[in-house]
Amino acid sequence: MDLTQFEHQYDHLARDVGAFKRSISNKLMYTVGKDPVSARSEDWLHAVSYAVRDHLVERWMKTTRAQYEQDVKRVYYLSMEFLIGRTFTNAILALELMPTIRQALAELDVDADTLFDLEPDAALGNGGLGRLAACFLDSMATLGVPGFGYGIRYDYGMFRQNIIDGRQVESPDYWLKQGNPWEFPRPEVQFRVRFGGHLEHSGQGADARVRWVGTDDVLAMAYDTIIPGYGTEATNTLRLWSAKATEEMDLRAFNQGNYFGAVEGKNHSENVSRVLYPDDSTLSGRELRLRQEYFFVSASLQDLVRRYLRTHTGFEALPDKVSVHMNDTHPVLAIPELMRILIDEHQRPWAEAWALCQKVFSYTNHTLMHEALETWPIELFGRVLPRHLRIIFDINAFFLTEVAKTHGQDAELMRRLSLIDESGERRVRMAYLAVVASHSINGVSALHSELMKDSIFADFARLWPERFNNKTNGVTPRRWLAQANPGLATLLDQRLGRGWRRHLDQLEGLRHAVDLPGFLGAFRKIKRQNKERLAAYVLKQLAIRLHPDALFDVQVKRIHEYKRQLLNVLHVVTRYQRILANPDAQWVPRVVVFAGKAASAYHMAKLVIKLINDVARTVNNDPRIGDKLKVVFIPNYSVSLAEIIMPAADLSEQISTAGTEASGTGNMKFALNGALTIGTLDGANVEMREHVGDENIFIFGKTTPEVAEIRAQGYQPRAIYDRNPELQAVLDAIRDGMFSPDEPGRYQQIFDTLVNWGDHYLLLADYESYVDTQTRVDTLYRNADDWTRRAVLNVAGMGEFSSDRTIAQYAHEIWHSRPVIVGPGHAPAP
Ligand SMILES: *Cc1c(COP(=O)(O)O)cnc(C)c1O
Repeated sequence: MDLTQFEHQYDHLARDVGAFKRSISNKLMYTVGKDPVSARSEDWLHAVSYAVRDHLVERWMKTTRAQYEQDVKRVYYLSMEFLIGRTFTNAILALELMPTIRQALAELDVDADTLFDLEPDAALGNGGLGRLAACFLDSMATLGVPGFGYGIRYDYGMFRQNIIDGRQVESPDYWLKQGNPWEFPRPEVQFRVRFGGHLEHSGQGADARVRWVGTDDVLAMAYDTIIPGYGTEATNTLRLWSAKATEEMDLRAFNQGNYFGAVEGKNHSENVSRVLYPDDSTLSGRELRLRQEYFFVSASLQDLVRRYLRTHTGFEALPDKVSVHMNDTHPVLAIPELMRILIDEHQRPWAEAWALCQKVFSYTNHTLMHEALETWPIELFGRVLPRHLRIIFDINAFFLTEVAKTHGQDAELMRRLSLIDESGERRVRMAYLAVVASHSINGVSALHSELMKDSIFADFARLWPERFNNKTNGVTPRRWLAQANPGLATLLDQRLGRGWRRHLDQLEGLRHAVDLPGFLGAFRKIKRQNKERLAAYVLKQLAIRLHPDALFDVQVKRIHEYKRQLLNVLHVVTRYQRILANPDAQWVPRVVVFAGKAASAYHMAKLVIKLINDVARTVNNDPRIGDKLKVVFIPNYSVSLAEIIMPAADLSEQISTAGTEASGTGNMKFALNGALTIGTLDGANVEMREHVGDENIFIFGKTTPEVAEIRAQGYQPRAIYDRNPELQAVLDAIRDGMFSPDEPGRYQQIFDTLVNWGDHYLLLADYESYVDTQTRVDTLYRNADDWTRRAVLNVAGMGEFSSDRTIAQYAHEIWHSRPVIVGPGHAPAP
């Protein structure tokens, strides 16, 4: 860049800084209503958020208008969860305004980083599934896919996790208490959602009509959030629904002079959007959950049908203009709801309505685990949604009749395929409904998509092989690299230019960089700074001092038996005992980091948290150990915390039992930030190995077929325990109270599960292979250049795992949507 160009840019920045300073001051006074003299940091945060938001609004209106004018096909992404995290920094980066905003705030005497840290996470999700939805929104906007996210505006998001005396204690996350400058309330967009009541039948044959009457209603009100695309003017909308009591209910009670009764009823009906269900990988099966699912799906379908009908007559064009994607089975009630709208409200014939559904819907499966598959008892379903149960019965009859035409009256096959599980209490199988109604059913990694066809959907995959496909997950490089790891982002910019943010494949260019003088050192220095940043956080939060030269070995994710945090603990205890036995050996110092929440009713997961904290306390306070080993459990895992942890990791633990993790996305974030993976051949680890190279990843443990074989033969953990004295010593220490002297029997149950009962996740079967592989990790880490070279090659191989690639495949192969063109010249008056 020559000097005049530079000066021009500098002028530009100075002018923008001045404009932003005025805008922020204006927002502080006229929108927040505060005097700069008395404004709190929260007030400044809101003021600057509004100032930045104005810039997004212009793009938003342009995009909305372009979508409308081009009559593009819209993609509706229905998800019970959107685990977004913070919006402010993400928005500033999307607008390329970071230097401007920092400068403007500095000149106003406000510290930018303090403000960034004040923003609460939008934690409207549990873990991977919700975070995937957030990454997808980012990628849809960036690629110009005309997408809408639809979900629930929970008053309380994911609970806050406090660790008290080593145990998880939950407290509510009222994330809206300071207000949310990023949302636009839309009181004019409200839909009535009905529950309960009964059906009245009239007419015969083609004139048969069903009326759903006597219902208890609630209103769904829209709140919109702008989703900015990166490096494009295109934006999208996330529309979340909040429950409001209907007016007539208030009025009726008021007229009866029962004021408190009215308020009570109001509270009751508004409960439907009160709180996120904090379960991951298990089905809670509670009525309120079913109501939540119907609530957001009904409002979303009414909204999108209304939008479609504003510019179209008749429903013929619906499949050309609308795609409805279901993120797992939670939104599957969208299927009978669209049937209801078409049949009951628009008098379409049944067969036509069904044909439309099959062209509009697509479905992503996220789990094969039995305990997570949604089914609802007929009794409960019929009481809450009698009309929809009737429609599901009709779909089932129609579908089974069609199958019988080609496959004959095979009663056993019919029983297996039925949307109603007739064994025991009759239940609706939501995943089967999704499969029967969707033109596309996808898994989230190559392995998972194959297993899905072999296991839970085997009969359907034989019926309709063409419907099944794979879309390997990805993560957005904007948040998970540009935002979370500014040091590495700058190095990449110098080496590769800035294009990797939109074209992550460009990371391939790093393969040449490993041989350039100074590059490995520069990369290592950034990793070290990120480790110092995490160490400072841990020191402040936990008063534990971590040495940044140690190998940072990290497992952060929901606490679940299948993810096997306990296997990691077995290695930590093994290492502890090895150091004690041989204190003068040249140990590679390690810091083992854990974080993650347990579902509040998940006893075993909570016991594992307690064990990690007990082991941490014992090891960290043992003077014989010193810096050779430190163990920390960082409380309240969240998106914002992940943004600090991921860039600081040397080693990423992805150690689920083969065949259980559908994809994982944490694995991708780590590798993208230059961690090496130690992992099983599970989920997307398999494809990561293909892309980073076998020699740059530590793979261990039983494969999926081997796991199946062990289970079929009868798993014998006691024999493994008897054969391996080191493992025995580890398990005995845990059982006998080495880490719980105050309550020696605390972990008897863990011992019994692993050794005597034979846990479903086969921890002991993978123990030896895991511990041996950890020794190989140490050996490699001793050679700093060799380690760093492999870390760089991990980054280089991660282009494939951008959610932009994933969304491009969804758009092209499932949704058949085209990008909207947002050109200059469409701008409406500001
Ligand atoms: C990425 C992410 C997850 C998913 O992690 P996995 O290791 O794939 O289970 C969960 N929670 C948060 C906050 C995340 O950022």
